[in-house]
Amino acid sequence: MLHKILIANRGEIAVRVMRTCRELGITTVAVYSELDREALHVRYADEAYALGGLTAAESYLNTEAILDVIARSGADGVHPGYGFYAENADFAREITARGVAWIGPPPEAIDMMGDKISARQAAARGGVASVPGTLEQIRSVDDVIAFGEEVGWPVAIKAAFGGGGKGMKVVHDAESAQSALDSATREAQAFFGRSEAYLEKYLTRPRHIEVQIFADTHGNAVWLGERDCSVQRRHQKLVEESPAPGLTEEIRRAMGESAVQVAQSTGYVNAGTVEMLYQDDEFFFLEMNTRLQVEHCVTEMVTQLDLVAEQIRVASGEPLSFTQDDIVRRGHSIEVRINAENSAKGFLPSPGTLTALAIPSGPGVRWDGGYEEGDTISQYYDNLVGKLVVWAPDRDRARHRMLRAMRELHVEGIHTTVPAAELVLAHPDFAAGTHSTRWLEEEVDLSGLVSDIGAKGTAPEVPTAQTLTVEVNGRKFEVTALLPEGFVGGTANGGAGGARKVSKPKSAASSGAGGDGTITAPMQGTIVKVTVAVGDTVEVGQSVLVLEAMKMENHLNAEQGGTVKDVRVSAGETVSAGDILIVIE
Ligand code: ADP
Repeated sequence: MLHKILIANRGEIAVRVMRTCRELGITTVAVYSELDREALHVRYADEAYALGGLTAAESYLNTEAILDVIARSGADGVHPGYGFYAENADFAREITARGVAWIGPPPEAIDMMGDKISARQAAARGGVASVPGTLEQIRSVDDVIAFGEEVGWPVAIKAAFGGGGKGMKVVHDAESAQSALDSATREAQAFFGRSEAYLEKYLTRPRHIEVQIFADTHGNAVWLGERDCSVQRRHQKLVEESPAPGLTEEIRRAMGESAVQVAQSTGYVNAGTVEMLYQDDEFFFLEMNTRLQVEHCVTEMVTQLDLVAEQIRVASGEPLSFTQDDIVRRGHSIEVRINAENSAKGFLPSPGTLTALAIPSGPGVRWDGGYEEGDTISQYYDNLVGKLVVWAPDRDRARHRMLRAMRELHVEGIHTTVPAAELVLAHPDFAAGTHSTRWLEEEVDLSGLVSDIGAKGTAPEVPTAQTLTVEVNGRKFEVTALLPEGFVGGTANGGAGGARKVSKPKSAASSGAGGDGTITAPMQGTIVKVTVAVGDTVEVGQSVLVLEAMKMENHLNAEQGGTVKDVRVSAGETVSAGDILIVIE
């Protein structure tokens, strides 16, 4: 067994891995950037080493610095968490060449699955159908048009090396094919440094269902169960659960066995996730993630297994501690990602200091957090503050338990995704399990969402007493409530989001643009690009600046047409919330 593990990560996943290490009596080594000197994962670790730098590239992705710490600390294993080096085959090779255990899959499997085209080929070798699509690179727009006409529109252009919802463009007809291809190629080149793209039929009402698999170096490969991650925005997951609602045992087993076949076709070892799209009783291979996933916790809750402990076991060369027949799934688990995002403003990033944090507890509640009260969520890293996970004997009780737990969660200093999650969990479609991957964005009215707290620097709205007519279980009641200005009475169905705000909140795309022509920063971030210069004429709605925070790019648009009078920032500069960036007259 390994005795000293370096966790090449930060935030909640670093803490998650260290917790298991501590239980197993393994010494933990943390690494940290300048900003993270006092971070929770550093406080938690047995030893901690500085990497220097602020941004991910300067710190957590600084290979030389990390290799140096591995040598100095005497770590005999490295856990990459997710993100950063987790799916970096070269880094895995570097580690193993030094005789240090890589707690992850073989580099060859990472390479094969990192390219979506070769991943589809691997799935085919494992006898599993991928989403209908091509196995070659797109050569020209004619390929796109021919494919659309063959399988029917819409189709998706997908970057072979894409990820995180980036590098994917949906094309609805032949006319828009060229511009979609151009923009997918540009995005893929900018984000991933490779522009290769291929085609898939774009399913219109799929569910995202993924299977957790595990394999060891002794030839054992098993599947542990599935997770439904259909509640998404911008193709990114918000709420995950296990088991997937409404799935028959027969399909579940078929998906599980298919996932194991895909893994075996790549010589896979350690934990992995086979993602599939499920629609009309059919499932298709989407991609394989060669790492521990954010949402692994719901699988742990229903199987009562510790996936990190098993990862360490397998990386130590031992066989899996269970067989397929030993795996018993009980009850239902739901996870909500608590992100520093303002769900009332189009999920705008919301970095800041957690001036207050009260964590839910009580029966069946688990919190995997990366921060404690007083800690700062930096604009330089991702926006996951923590994961709230519940378990209950059945789905409906798990749903109510999550709603209860979210009411106990109290956060101040930043906005979170809790208001959106409450709306989801209380929604009849979610309760019925009839939602799909586009449900949240296309069918749910998010316009009524209210920011959960006044983020630092934002004046809280003044509540006023108002009488509302509400309907509870078909019965009408009049209630008087203190509500922020701008509210009118609506119909509350016992869930969140009953009261609707009249003025539609600005979308992420337009936030920060004041009606008076002054463009201010809606949050702390780094300027990626300024697209206008002094003297330019701009139109209403035109994007004038791109601001990045928490790995998300936000376009700030002019809310008033006119001439640019002043540009106060340039690319690369860091700005604070409220800073004046551009003035239009
Ligand atoms: P990424 O690697 O960027 O995360 P994925 O291929 O995993 O991309 O897809 C992410 C999400 O995008 C899926 O969960 C699903 O919601 C949507 N998606 C991807 N491909 C398709 C498709 N062919 N049809 C419909 N939705 C898709």
